[in-house]
Amino acid sequence: PAAVSCQELTKTYGTGEAQVHALRSVTAGFAAGEFTAIMGPSGSGKSTLMHLLAGLDTPTSGSVCIEGNQLTGLNDKQLTKLRRDRLGFIFQSFNLVPTLTARENIELPLRLAGSKVDAGEIDRLASRLGIFERLAHLPHELSGGQQQRVAVARALISQPAVVFADEPTGALDLRTGRELLQSMQQAAHERNQTIIMVTHDPAAAAFADRTLILVDGQIAHDLRGANYEQIA
Ligand code: ADP
Ligand code: ADP
Repeated sequence: PAAVSCQELTKTYGTGEAQVHALRSVTAGFAAGEFTAIMGPSGSGKSTLMHLLAGLDTPTSGSVCIEGNQLTGLNDKQLTKLRRDRLGFIFQSFNLVPTLTARENIELPLRLAGSKVDAGEIDRLASRLGIFERLAHLPHELSGGQQQRVAVARALISQPAVVFADEPTGALDLRTGRELLQSMQQAAHERNQTIIMVTHDPAAAAFADRTLILVDGQIAHDLRGANYEQIA
């Protein structure tokens, strides 16, 4: 069974003249250990799909299932627990806690879940992401790209079953972006984590196993491997 799936997912914003059909009956499945890129023009529904799959917003109709849980069947407490224990988020707004150091921000999900904090594991992940020297700094002392990498480390440290990433390489230089994408590939292929990434960058999508192309709120293409160039 898919780790994440959606059935006839529809999202409509506004009413009457101002109505926007952001998603039109999208059905898709994401296997455990699969790294999927979601591409498509601006306004095609990528962010909306990602937010619905992650349970951050509710659909107008249709359903989302994560690891056998129908999201509509969960109350707020259960949804919060699912998010905390099973999901990781790499979004554009970093949401770092300003009063905590980079290391403390990265540790936060482990502490919230009552898990053991392995300082060595944080060191290794931070090194791989090029922020080891910055672990004792507060967010405001870091560049945008460094803050993003702290947010990435925070999302990956607890090895969540499913990781949602919205333009994760957007604020990164080429080399760091590649390292992040390789970390995400490793997470999928070595640790069986399911990765769903929205990106505008074909070079980033090339790291994924599969690329979904959204056009006008529908899946226009579902491509395996790095053969998105066929339709570009
Ligand atoms: P993408 O991520 O591909 O750029 P979005 O999912 O952000 O696309 O948006 C899809 C469509 O829905 C766009 O036309 C956008 O303007 C609209 N939209 C997204 N969020 C809202 C919202 N909260 N209220 C009204 N319209 C929205
Ligand atoms: P990006 O494509 O860079 O991720 P978006 O332009 O899609 O960013 O928008 C980010 C967020 O802003 C969306 O998740 C949505 O909730 C909100 N949003 C987008 N378009 C609209 C809109 N027309 N009206 C209100 N909110 C919107």
